[in-house]
Amino acid sequence: EELISKLKAGFHWETGKIDQNKDYLSELDTPIGDGDHGNNMSRGMDAVSESLASKKPETIQDIFKLTAMALISKVGGASGPLYGTAMMEMGKTSGTTSEALPILEAGIAGIEKRGNSKPGEKTMLDEWAPAIEAIKTGSLTQGNLDAAVEATKGLVATRGRASYVGERSIGHIDPGAMSKIGEGLSRLIKEV
Ligand code: ADP
Ligand code: MG
Ligand code: MG
Repeated sequence: EELISKLKAGFHWETGKIDQNKDYLSELDTPIGDGDHGNNMSRGMDAVSESLASKKPETIQDIFKLTAMALISKVGGASGPLYGTAMMEMGKTSGTTSEALPILEAGIAGIEKRGNSKPGEKTMLDEWAPAIEAIKTGSLTQGNLDAAVEATKGLVATRGRASYVGERSIGHIDPGAMSKIGEGLSRLIKEV
C-alpha cells in the first residue's frame, strides 16, 4: 500500500522535474536532433500524472502499465516507445519480484531490444546503464549520474536522429540521457 503511494508520488515529482527542464531538454535536442525532446517528455509525463490521478491504479504493475501507455501514446517521438517499453517490462517484472535490480534490468533490456541499441551509442542508455551500475555498487549519487550524462558529450551518436549528424554529434549532451528517467526510476524503486 505504502509502496504504491510512494511510486505515484515519485512519478508526479518526475513530471514536475521534466516540466521545469522542458526548454533545456529541447535546446539540447536542437543541434543533434529536431528540438522536441523537452516538449515530447513534458507532454508524456503530464499524461502520466493525469492518468495516475484519474485511474487510481492499485498495484505496482498497474502503475507501470498506465505510465507505459501514457508515454507510448502521448510522447510522439522515438523516446516515447522506448521509455514506454521500459515501463511495460518493469511492470511485468514487478509482478514477480519486489527487488529493485531485476526490475530496473528488465527496463533497460526493454529499451535495448526495442531500440536495437546498447550503451556507448550516445542515447538514454548511457544514463540508464550507469544508474543501474550505481545501484549495484551502492554509489547512486547525484554527482555520479551528472557525470555520466555529461560524458555523453564525448560519444558519437550511432542510433536515433542524432546519428544523422554522425561525428558532429560530439561535444553535445544527449537529450534523452539528460531527461534522466533511468536515474529517477532507480532512486524511486530503490527507495520503495
Ligand atoms: P525524436 O528523436 O523522435 O525526436 P526525442 O527527441 O523525444 O525523439 O528523443 C530523442 C532521444 O531518444 C535521444 O536523445 C536518445 O537518448 C533516445 N534514442 C533515440 N533512438 C534511440 C535508440 N535506438 N535507443 C535508445 N535511445 C534512443
Ligand atoms: Mg527529438
Ligand atoms: Mg521528434
